[in-house]
Amino acid sequence: MHGSSDIVIVGGGVMGSATAFFLLSDPGFTGRVTVVEKDPTYRFASSALSASSIRQQFSTPLNIQLSLFGIGFLRDIGRHLALPGETLSIGLREPGYLIMATAAHEELLRRNVALQRAHGADTTVLSPAEMKQRFPWIETDGVAAAGFGLTGEGSFDGPALMQAFRRKAASIGARYVHGEVVGVEKSGPRVAAVRLADGTRIACGAMVLAAGPSSGVVAALAGVELPVRPRKRTVFVFRSPAVLPRCPLVIDANGVWVRPEGDGFVAGVSPPDHEDADADPSDFEMDHHFFDDPIWPTIAARIPAFEQLRLSGGWAGHYEVNTLDHNAVIGRHPEIANLVFVTGFSGHGMQQAAAAGRAVGELLVHGAYRTIDVSLFGYERIRDRRPVRELNVI
Ligand SMILES: Cc1cc2nc3c(=O)[nH]c(=O)nc-3n(C[C@H](O)[C@H](O)[C@H](O)COP(=O)(O)OP(=O)(O)OC[C@H]3O[C@@H](n4cnc5c(N)ncnc54)[C@H](O)[C@@H]3O)c2cc1C
Repeated sequence: MHGSSDIVIVGGGVMGSATAFFLLSDPGFTGRVTVVEKDPTYRFASSALSASSIRQQFSTPLNIQLSLFGIGFLRDIGRHLALPGETLSIGLREPGYLIMATAAHEELLRRNVALQRAHGADTTVLSPAEMKQRFPWIETDGVAAAGFGLTGEGSFDGPALMQAFRRKAASIGARYVHGEVVGVEKSGPRVAAVRLADGTRIACGAMVLAAGPSSGVVAALAGVELPVRPRKRTVFVFRSPAVLPRCPLVIDANGVWVRPEGDGFVAGVSPPDHEDADADPSDFEMDHHFFDDPIWPTIAARIPAFEQLRLSGGWAGHYEVNTLDHNAVIGRHPEIANLVFVTGFSGHGMQQAAAAGRAVGELLVHGAYRTIDVSLFGYERIRDRRPVRELNVI
């Protein structure tokens, strides 16, 4: 079977589906959109295995802008994505992130919060005494200051967001095809078609690469080097009798994070860069040792009520890490102009999917970004090895 489509999107997770939605919602777009997804159950997709939290506490202005658009979109999700007659909820909560800094990093934290505020984020700096006042159940040993999101930061149901984008995109005309892209055909400096594992060829006017942690592999099919790699992250679920009023997502100075989820808690940590090896794409085993060290000792010291807890489960998923600088890659390939990236979000893609999908839609329909200019995250910096370093990596 063969076909053609104006836009072929490789990957139907939150990025591919958000892109399809924004493209088809634009009155200026009259083409056809095909989303190729190799696993419609999304069992191993990052979007299904995400911790689905949103923050404004970044060090890169563009990340702040993308997540600010994200929170506005999530707050108004029903208006954007509900199907006729449907009430859509993604369980958004906004108790904030509390990001702690030692004395060595206090100055940097203060600079970052000033930057966030200058871009419209509702963040502030808390002294240890102010932390204690707001959250009497927390210990402040070793903490010089903490960044705190008064509003605009929290968590939501990520898989529900992805499904809402998918259903809405399909309802306004996106065609979802179950298949795996195994080849990218080029004609001169352009992508001419994608080939699926079952032999199907889909000719396209443009190809959008939204394959999550597999994006590096799919880019290679087009002869393009893209340093986006799967990196395993384990999320631990535990129960505790601890009562922690207004508990935000707490991030200790060593990177260990914990937040309430349902009637329990979730926690995790990213390994240090030098230990963060590429994951075997089929390995979704939890890395249990991270709970023994550093997670449990860190959270028990910070929140003494956690001395009593019972690990009840968890899961592992893959971040789509851009190993150059932990930031997204969005926009056209400079030489293959009809190859467009929307990937590499390195752990903050769920919250930025709406803004990224909208940006790619604008680029494809109007030839330029109209709202948030995301050129800083273009492929050119990858080619030229010019990292745009995000300092708040979680
Ligand atoms: C444990 C964990 C915690 C996270 N926590 C947060 C968080 O708190 N906040 C936040 O904002 N983000 C978080 N993230 C990151 C966020 O989930 C991702 O950035 C986002 O889901 C990426 O979406 P995606 O659509 O690019 O990738 P995916 O959801 O992986 O979708 C890509 C899709 O492409 C398909 N595909 C791949 N190759 C092919 C091919 N060759 N042919 C056809 N289809 C293909 C896959 O099957 C998949 O469905 C977390 C991620 C993980 C794993």
